[in-house]
Amino acid sequence: MGNKRFDALNHVLNRSIEEKPLSKELISDYYGEAVFHDRAMKQFLPSDIYKKIKECVATGKQLNRDIADHVASGMKAWAISKDVTHYTHWFQPLTGRTAEKHDAFFTPSEVGESIESFGGDQLAQQEPDASSFPNGGLRNTFEARGYTAWDPSSPAFIISGTLCIPTVFVAYTGQALDYKAPLLKALHALNDAAVPVAQYFDRNVTRISATLGWEQEYFLVDSALFQARPDLMLTGRTLFGHSSSKGQQLDDHYFGSIPERAVAFMRDFEEQSLRLGIPIKTRHNEVAPNQFECAPLFEEANLAVDHNLLVMDVMEKVAHRHHFRVLLHEKPYAGINGSGKHNNWSLSTNTGVNLLSPGNTPKTNLRFLTFFVNTIKAVHDYDDLLRATIASAENDHRLGANEAPPAIISIFIGSQLTKVLEDLEKRIKDKGMSPDEKTELKLNIGKIPEILLDNTDRNRTSPFAFTGNKFEFRAVGSTANCSGPMTALNTVMSSQLIKFRIDVDGLIAQGIKKDEAILRVLREYIIESKKILFEGNGYGEEWVKEAAKRGLSNIKTTPHALGAYLKQNVVKLFESAGVLTHEELEARNEIYLEKYKLKIQIESRVAGDIALNHIVPAALEYQRKLVETVRGMKDIYDEKEYKKLSAPHRSLISSVSTHVSKLQSDVHIMIEERKKANNMIDSLESSSHYCDYVIPYLNTMRENVDSLEIIVDDELWPIPKYRELLFTR
Ligand code: ADP
Ligand code: MG
Repeated sequence: MGNKRFDALNHVLNRSIEEKPLSKELISDYYGEAVFHDRAMKQFLPSDIYKKIKECVATGKQLNRDIADHVASGMKAWAISKDVTHYTHWFQPLTGRTAEKHDAFFTPSEVGESIESFGGDQLAQQEPDASSFPNGGLRNTFEARGYTAWDPSSPAFIISGTLCIPTVFVAYTGQALDYKAPLLKALHALNDAAVPVAQYFDRNVTRISATLGWEQEYFLVDSALFQARPDLMLTGRTLFGHSSSKGQQLDDHYFGSIPERAVAFMRDFEEQSLRLGIPIKTRHNEVAPNQFECAPLFEEANLAVDHNLLVMDVMEKVAHRHHFRVLLHEKPYAGINGSGKHNNWSLSTNTGVNLLSPGNTPKTNLRFLTFFVNTIKAVHDYDDLLRATIASAENDHRLGANEAPPAIISIFIGSQLTKVLEDLEKRIKDKGMSPDEKTELKLNIGKIPEILLDNTDRNRTSPFAFTGNKFEFRAVGSTANCSGPMTALNTVMSSQLIKFRIDVDGLIAQGIKKDEAILRVLREYIIESKKILFEGNGYGEEWVKEAAKRGLSNIKTTPHALGAYLKQNVVKLFESAGVLTHEELEARNEIYLEKYKLKIQIESRVAGDIALNHIVPAALEYQRKLVETVRGMKDIYDEKEYKKLSAPHRSLISSVSTHVSKLQSDVHIMIEERKKANNMIDSLESSSHYCDYVIPYLNTMRENVDSLEIIVDDELWPIPKYRELLFTR
């Protein structure tokens, strides 16, 4: 039989590097040229309109329709000057990526001519045919249509001749059907809650934004090999594949020199990203072979989220030109490191201060400690919610698999800050302190910046780590839309800061001085949330036991983790912050469960198909050859010799038979389990059935296929092997 695997390998070997000549332009010449940014706005908008839009973005105030008309006409003129013919509202349905519906500017006029039209109405609102986007029952019960509405805080951009306008996507009832709407509300709530707290330290603070710096990990694989693996094509990961004799054990890939073909790809997609105003800054190899990472400078959280989604799209598009496929899946290969998307997060003021950066005076350090300890308390109180925000079928392969942060949410702060907190806990007295004690405390707080300069104090096994001037939520998966975790984190922080202010003001009302009141409240929080702090090895078995003793959750699978969205305290949190209603949370929970179920359903079907239609025929072909050999031996040897010499071959024949028959029976039982799950009406029940009764067959099937892979003649093996996927360049 013809072997697609060898065809694919030949393809790869004959590839030449498609290197674009190095651009003579400086990055600063083209950076942001495809974005309706400051420079373009100044050129294409009347100056009063420009000022108004800047002000609205800075203060989060709504723009009125009159301004929208002016902006639309400037935007249109700018876009047409760049040969743009279409526009689209660009939005983030809960499927996880982005969606767009293109309309032409071109409008036929009455006299048979045509004009290019685009007004405030088209800019502000569009009605995509929304019926095929997930809505978790929201649209069925209310209104069948949804609409998109302009988000002026994220600038419009041009991709492939289309003007893309970032928008939120909501039902006619106003309920959110996307990731962006709740994120914007969370950022708003955070600002409202954080400003008064920051004003304890500086009256000039009037606006606080969350900042996000994401780090995107991904794998590259040659597109010919990708096409020869139905599992990669349809599920984004390999469902089968025996580990390669050489994997990542030498760690020789990490920060090694980047293979030429990969560099050519990176240069190309980085250039596209930079044109889109995405400040991509770093690139390097990751731990696993053919695994890489890119990261931009951090930006305001909403913009950073949009930029991450854009980068994922740009990467995929550009990869085609280089005959690569980008694997964004959290775990494309078993036994090899998976991919994450660290979310570096902090808070920044209109006065240019990073609130999670220690300063160099006792006052600025007290401010630092305030935001630092409140974050710890917020994460402590809502650890299950944060766990839910990173739950997905894909990320289940990473969390708790001894290579990524565990499914247990804990916080790493480093030994020096641990000491600072211990010190605070010890020194601060509930019943007033002597002047000497206060001086000493102040001195100690003043010392924080020196010690933090020591950057060796890092722990890469923690899901949530403090890294000098920001927290790094490291458990987020590589395919995730950062909005999920960012919405939750900023919401829990807003609620925590409101509580903090009430607690502090309560003590001040009792006549306690402000600084001391702050310290006393912080001390309470440190005591209350201590159990979430963990400095040890997060990948170790001991931590699992220790965490259980401390009463921390360890929720390993998505269907169970998602339940946190509906916990009473979580519903109350989101409702009181005005971020999501109970109904919206229920809808989201439903959508995520359904998505989980469909993912496993597809994996299970693909696995069955590959097993029965690719693997079993190859195994039987090999078995046929063995049988022929053994028959031939019988012809030429006497009975005794035949028995002795053919024994290994006969044993191979029975091994092949055993694996094939196990495989076939697994596929059939798995189909039965799938049927049961599909008949369950309740989403939680159905997705849990997939999790508990379908996935185990995916695992046992894998064992049999992988065993066959090392028995069957290499010439007959139909799908590219791990060594080929990981090392072919
Ligand atoms: P690594 O974690 O790989 O060692 P760094 O700690 O240097 O790398 O930075 C990682 C990321 O942190 C960068 O992408 C950067 O944009 C982001 N970052 C730095 N400062 C902030 C901040 N104040 N807010 C949010 N992200 C930040
Ligand atoms: Mg990092």
